[in-house]
Amino acid sequence: MTITKADIEALDRQDPLRGHVAAFHRPDGLIYLNGNSLGQAPQAAIARASKVASGEWAEMLVTGWNRAGWWDLPRRLGDLLAGLVGAAPGELVVADGTSLNLHKVVATALAMQPDRRTIVMAGSDFPTDVYVVQGLIAQLGQGHTIRFAEADALDAALAPDVAVVILSDVHFKTARILDMAAITARAHAAGALIVWDLCHSAGAIPVDLNRSKADFAVGCTYKYLNGGPGSPGFLFAAARHHARMQQPLTGWWGHAEPFAFQRDFQPASGISRMLCGTQPILSMAVAEAGIALALSAGADAARAKSQALGALFLALLAEQLPQSGLLLSSPADASQRGGHVALDHPHGLAIMQALIAAGVVGDFRAPCTLRFGFSPLPLRYADIREAVARLATVMRDKVWQDSRYARRDAVT
Ligand SMILES: *Cc1c(COP(=O)(O)O)cnc(C)c1O
Repeated sequence: MTITKADIEALDRQDPLRGHVAAFHRPDGLIYLNGNSLGQAPQAAIARASKVASGEWAEMLVTGWNRAGWWDLPRRLGDLLAGLVGAAPGELVVADGTSLNLHKVVATALAMQPDRRTIVMAGSDFPTDVYVVQGLIAQLGQGHTIRFAEADALDAALAPDVAVVILSDVHFKTARILDMAAITARAHAAGALIVWDLCHSAGAIPVDLNRSKADFAVGCTYKYLNGGPGSPGFLFAAARHHARMQQPLTGWWGHAEPFAFQRDFQPASGISRMLCGTQPILSMAVAEAGIALALSAGADAARAKSQALGALFLALLAEQLPQSGLLLSSPADASQRGGHVALDHPHGLAIMQALIAAGVVGDFRAPCTLRFGFSPLPLRYADIREAVARLATVMRDKVWQDSRYARRDAVT
């Protein structure tokens, strides 16, 4: 049964999140399927950027730390975001970036496990996670090692020497979703702590950190939370660990009394001790708009729409391009797939560049994966229809074979 234009118009009319679509700026003629890498700009974020620069920074100057609430932003946004990922107020801060936060929580977790020296990670996970841990191990100089194990081989890797397990609940390339509660239970049964990387799940799928009994988590706000380029990351630590947490980046924002200006470090109580120093307030203030939109939509409604957009994309693709040569490398079962769809093709880079030139933005991950992100708040079902039509043209007319699409930019 073919999917008609009328079917798709009906989906948009009945979309419970159609009000959120209008909350985003839409670049002219562009169909943006890359909210899994950098989310679209909420209108409220654009307005906030101007207000925080001209109304707060320019007018209030240093008094803005109190009067505009800059000082409390990491905790206030943290409490806001906590509601979206199943954390309690006081368990999450928005600060620094994912990589830095990972350094802090892994160092903390290792210090809590002094008799264990192994860190279990998936070698296929987003590389920064591995790089950060490799650097930390070298710095600690205590003989820690990484045992690489993919999620399916976790049980064999969970020996009594494992201090910490680090995993992404949605894989950055394949979008495969892991069972956070079940894997956390297995790590705990082996005596290990677990750190979840939520970069591809916060804002895309429902996450319940406390119901899953997660120990620590990190993530970013610039993907599905639409926080803006380089917007701050976040860090979760379960309240039961707060009193024992010792992180290595002991700066004055993590001090018990930052304005007492004492000589020696005394950690703040609670999540504040995971802070280090002064935060990028312009960027952080702007990120609030996207977080607030995600909360107002609700994680379940966002998930349902994102799943429906992805399923529509694949159905239209199968209908219009049955012989495309684009192979689905994400789970075929939509319930096992996060917010994007990965398609592999030996000429993936050229195809994606030709598609971008045709006004459909996805991205490419070496060696051969095209990623199409289905960010639920800014997208309409009609956008998916138009995107597949343009992709079909690029493939059918072999537009991608033009030599100008073989060039690789710094950011793919
Ligand atoms: C995007 C992403 C990161 C990015 O880390 P930054 O420090 O924000 O650059 C880390 N981990 C995963 C799984 C990601 O998808």
